[in-house]
Amino acid sequence: MNPTARITVLSGGTGGAKFLQGLLHGITSGTLPGVSRDASVTVIANTADDIWVHGLKVCPDLDTVMYTLGGGIDNDRGWGRREETWSVKAELAEYGVEPTWFGLGDRDVATHLVRLQMLQAGHTLSQVTQALCRRWQPGVRLLPMTDDRVETHVEIADPESLNGHRVVHFQEYWIKLGASVPAERLVFEGIEDSAPAPGVVDAIMNADLVILPPSNPVVSVGTIVGVPGVREAIVGTNASVVGLSPIVGGTHVRGMAEQMLTSIGVEVSAAGVGLHFGSRAQGGVLDGWLVDLADADQVPRLIDAGITCRAVPLMMTDHAATAAMAAAAMSIVA
Ligand code: GDP
Ligand code: CA
Repeated sequence: MNPTARITVLSGGTGGAKFLQGLLHGITSGTLPGVSRDASVTVIANTADDIWVHGLKVCPDLDTVMYTLGGGIDNDRGWGRREETWSVKAELAEYGVEPTWFGLGDRDVATHLVRLQMLQAGHTLSQVTQALCRRWQPGVRLLPMTDDRVETHVEIADPESLNGHRVVHFQEYWIKLGASVPAERLVFEGIEDSAPAPGVVDAIMNADLVILPPSNPVVSVGTIVGVPGVREAIVGTNASVVGLSPIVGGTHVRGMAEQMLTSIGVEVSAAGVGLHFGSRAQGGVLDGWLVDLADADQVPRLIDAGITCRAVPLMMTDHAATAAMAAAAMSIVA
């Protein structure tokens, strides 16, 4: 069999970026079964978290992947630039400008000014991303899922409003409210009218392997798969498609996958997410699914549903452990 040379990953922010670090570590150290050391990785990143703040277009997942793989991330926070300062944020607060809950550090502002200038000059988000990556050299080809505006909004209870509900941007739900109230409904504004960004469908159709990393299954991977044409490409590609559970022992490791799954009525478990994605043989998107050792008892449910499944350690504690997860993912669909 030919070695795996083209890998495509559908990524959110922190979970996806961490997985990608391990995957690249595995490729360069030659520890992935059947993968050539010069294998190329294409990342299709979620852009449904994007938000306009202070006149700037913020793309949290694209930037988290770019900064993480390019060595610019603040590792403790998991987002934004390392060695960051916050003068711009403090000055804006002095003016009483909202939103005060969204922090853009001074170094980060520069990235956003470049993005804004390019967008205003008529470039697409894909072109802007490519330009920003010339500086960061992330070691992957980084593509936004779409160049169109797609935004995740969350409906929450609000006794003070007339109909008892209020709709907030996903970022407000996550950052300001800390995902502490139930998400009653999710609205993916613009998704039905969006088109995959240039290269997205090709990257899936021409891949040797497609990976769904342990990213949020609803507001990261779910939105990418929700762009019209992406699901069809995943169903139709000759590549194997394998995913890793973001739910371990019945909860997310970090983040708010639990709230999002509850919101769309999906069982919060490794099996629940795998079955929600479904077997590719039956119109879903998965050939294989990895669950954590803690969830080994759920493996038969997935196998019954036509998904190849195995339980392995799924905690991304360091690059080597994450590379071992990538290796396990490859071996179950080899
Ligand atoms: P976000 O855009 O920053 O929310 O990042 P992603 O969507 O890429 O990933 C967030 C999800 O990754 C979390 O909700 C967790 O479910 C999952 N996650 C984070 N760390 C780990 C880990 O070490 N192991 C596993 N299996 N999942 C993880
Ligand atoms: Ca995100």
